[in-house]
Amino acid sequence: MKVLKFGGTSVGTAESLTYVKHIVESGEDRMVVVVSALGGLTDKLLATAALASSGDQRYKDNMLSIAERHRGIITAIIAPEFQDEVSSTVEPMLEELGKLYDGVALIGELPDQTLDRIVSFGERMSSVIVSRMIPGATHFNSLDIIKTEKWFNKNIADTVLTDRNIKETLSLCKSKVAVIGGFISTDRDSGEITNLGRGGSDYTAALVAAALDADCLEIWTDVDGFMTADPRIIPQAQVIDRLSFVESMELCSFGAKVVYPPTIYPVFHKNIPIRILNTFRSTAPGTWITDKAANLGEAKGVTSVRKISIIEIEGKSAENVPEINSRTFNSLAKSGISVKLVSQPTADSSFSFAVSTSDSQRSAKALEQEFAPDMETGEISRIQATDGMAIIAIVGENIGHESGTGPRILNSLQRAGISVAASSHGASAMSHAYVVAETDADNALRIIHETFFEKS
Ligand code: ADP
Ligand code: ASP
Ligand code: MG
Repeated sequence: MKVLKFGGTSVGTAESLTYVKHIVESGEDRMVVVVSALGGLTDKLLATAALASSGDQRYKDNMLSIAERHRGIITAIIAPEFQDEVSSTVEPMLEELGKLYDGVALIGELPDQTLDRIVSFGERMSSVIVSRMIPGATHFNSLDIIKTEKWFNKNIADTVLTDRNIKETLSLCKSKVAVIGGFISTDRDSGEITNLGRGGSDYTAALVAAALDADCLEIWTDVDGFMTADPRIIPQAQVIDRLSFVESMELCSFGAKVVYPPTIYPVFHKNIPIRILNTFRSTAPGTWITDKAANLGEAKGVTSVRKISIIEIEGKSAENVPEINSRTFNSLAKSGISVKLVSQPTADSSFSFAVSTSDSQRSAKALEQEFAPDMETGEISRIQATDGMAIIAIVGENIGHESGTGPRILNSLQRAGISVAASSHGASAMSHAYVVAETDADNALRIIHETFFEKS
């Protein structure tokens, strides 16, 4: 059996849904179809919530257009004899959503739990619609199956419970096609509606594929495959035929938006291949992600992560650096902050690391607390956070061992007048990563892409 995930880009309009229907109906295997909300809907649900909470009455127009969009799609793609049945499920959801917005507008407050409840309607409605579009398909409710637990201020998947739930429900499905909404979940303790984070439908699909030992996880989107760079920034980007799990994991965690980063691990663990395919050009070969790396030492892609802050810690002498390192990472871990990159110039008394700007304040605070005594004695002279940065990473298995790659990149960036605030050269042998000003990020991507992927 296979798991097919269709993103918002694939389920955005009645026309794109006909492509989805064709792909599902022409498949021979049994399959689980995981769907996102209609394209752009999650953003709209969030924006409407913001309007309502600020008392801006335009939330009502937005709500109306959300309702009309779903009604239009039902009319266009559901067989006439099933339309009433679909409407009888979707209309109460629209009504509840409308009431939630009215409540938010009335109180003028938007607690996280209410927001999570609001965004859940995207996948709740799209999954019902898609399941009724495919004759004989069975709908499963992700809110009963996908479970999360609290981790600091985040909700993360409870993979053990979710795995058991998937096995106990979806594996018993008698129909050829099972349909489930991606992204949404419930808290294992409170039962509150939660989600797996923006872009999380990919992750739902991976959890399902892993639990059911699927033969393949197919991620259907709006590009021909995993590309050497984000095609919206680099129009010359080319499709990568093959990637290893670890390469794709590195590319995704360094910002390749085509797959949500946590997606790779569950299928990697079970050695289930992933294919990235284009809903609108289903004959294109796409990208295979498997356990085998092709062309070791060769760069596979270049990516960027924006909204990065760099935090620099300066000590009195290089001898203290190992101890400062371990205390730094311990105190960050205790606050649930993940570090994106560490830059450690040899024989230097300072070192720096990069975090998301949303974690920058908390990181600086945690370190100021940890090192308060050392700052008093002068052992640590400075802790400084700089916002407005980006990470540019070039990825490929074993490229860290290619000694020429780092200097080649630094030279090209230098020639373009781009200064590198910090860098990390393939501690994992998997990537070279550079921190540059966010305003230089596009240019740096272009230069690196040209140097490595646009051989004339
Ligand atoms: P979906 O709605 O199918 O989940 P996403 O918007 O999340 O789609 O992801 C697909 C988009 O990711 C593409 O349209 C493309 O613009 C962007 N993207 C960013 N980096 C890459 C890359 N390296 N390869 C392919 N697409 C990329
Ligand atoms: N609908 C959610 C989002 O827009 C999840 C997803 O599309 O994967 O983030
Ligand atoms: Mg996506």
